Amino acid sequence: MQNTEEVWRYVDAKAEDAIGLSDRVWGMPELCYAEVRSCAEHTAMLEAHGFRVTRDVAGIPTAVMGEAGEDGPVIAILGEYDALPGLSNEAGVAEHKPLPGDGSGHGCGHNLLGAASLLAASAVKDWIERNGIKARVRYYGCPAEEGGAAKGFMVREGAFDDVDMAICWHPAAFTGVNEAVSLANTRIDFAFTGRSSHAAAAPELGRSALDAVELMNVGVNYMREHMPSDARIHYAYLDAGGIAPNVVQGSAKVRYLIRARDLVGLNQLVARVRKIAEGAALMTETSVSTKVVSAVSNLLGNTPLERAMYENMLRLGPPQFDEEDRAFAREIQKTLSEEDIAAAYRRHGLEPQRDKALCDIIVPLDAKGKGGVGSTDVGDVSWKVPTVQARGATYAIGTPGHSWQLTAQGKSGIAHKGLVHVAKIMAGTAVDAIRNPDLLAAAKADHKARTDAHPYVCPLPPDVKPPVGMSAD
Ligand SMILES: [Zn+2]
Repeated sequence: MQNTEEVWRYVDAKAEDAIGLSDRVWGMPELCYAEVRSCAEHTAMLEAHGFRVTRDVAGIPTAVMGEAGEDGPVIAILGEYDALPGLSNEAGVAEHKPLPGDGSGHGCGHNLLGAASLLAASAVKDWIERNGIKARVRYYGCPAEEGGAAKGFMVREGAFDDVDMAICWHPAAFTGVNEAVSLANTRIDFAFTGRSSHAAAAPELGRSALDAVELMNVGVNYMREHMPSDARIHYAYLDAGGIAPNVVQGSAKVRYLIRARDLVGLNQLVARVRKIAEGAALMTETSVSTKVVSAVSNLLGNTPLERAMYENMLRLGPPQFDEEDRAFAREIQKTLSEEDIAAAYRRHGLEPQRDKALCDIIVPLDAKGKGGVGSTDVGDVSWKVPTVQARGATYAIGTPGHSWQLTAQGKSGIAHKGLVHVAKIMAGTAVDAIRNPDLLAAAKADHKARTDAHPYVCPLPPDVKPPVGMSAD
């Protein structure tokens, strides 16, 4: 407890710095792989706090890593700072009021995500240095969580090869340990090439690429009966071969988005979809080429680390919001539906309460959430090293993810208190892992047991590069 309280004091000492960082990043919302100024802000603070800084991590210009300490275990704390298109909003108001600009906004709270993680890393750095402890702490500034799979590329390029464990968090309505449920997914383009001809005068000379796409889709739709019920497959035509029905379509392209409960299931499903594409090409005497556009792994849990993080939450207690915070949260709740609010409780396996606008509990570790399964690139880190993720209350209960209401609360007292609170949880968990080699060993054994039968294979093939510049398109 003495060490925990010490590192919490270091969090408090640098809290104003981190809140300033978060507010500045909120004010410069930048999209997927274009987080130039936001990354520069994080880099500047890492340098000001005395970290050894590595820029261009994995060849990505908006990824940065700061390290402190010598020898010992390496603890990674992960941050993000990308914004979303169309979610601009004035801060501190409970109405939809986009700001002038390109319309982007921090509708997922990643301004807080990066700043709180950097704050936690900086406090752990102070604790390591003042106590002469052999250990290293790293802050990883990870861009492009929203659809860019940056952490997958960082893992693939070896950025986590010498890391012992990773800690991260995400803004939320309730504080608790994140339940490690997320789907693995991949986007793959299938491009068919045939031979065009006059559809009436010489149809026998043509080989239709559009026929091939249609037959592929029929094949996949027949496969649905025979795939796991929690898998998902969607597709969209990128190129239907032109607008002239009297020309046999010589080229056609379809994009598939394939999701599965885990990486193993995903790979099996992708292999079957590829066979169907080859079958369609065989049937139509066309050829098919494929290109993986992006991919993320499912999230792996880690029982020892989740318990350790939960103990830190119980020691610290729930976040302490004040009357002004509650009043603003109630105003935000007036813009939400009853269903939004009830769904927020159900997501954490809690009974809905109507008289509460802000979290005042720690969600029990054994609470089982319902519904709302997404995907995150933290999944790839969790396959590489033992990983634990917190959820930290930073907004009114019921606020939907990716909403103007979330942007509007991003610089509020709720957000600021939540940021400091979750930084303490992460710093305390890191200190526990450094002080207690048995915890780290148990975390590694748990990770090994989860990955032994099916070791991690990065779902991003070697020839797929990070789509730097994608948001400029
Ligand atoms: Zn997010």
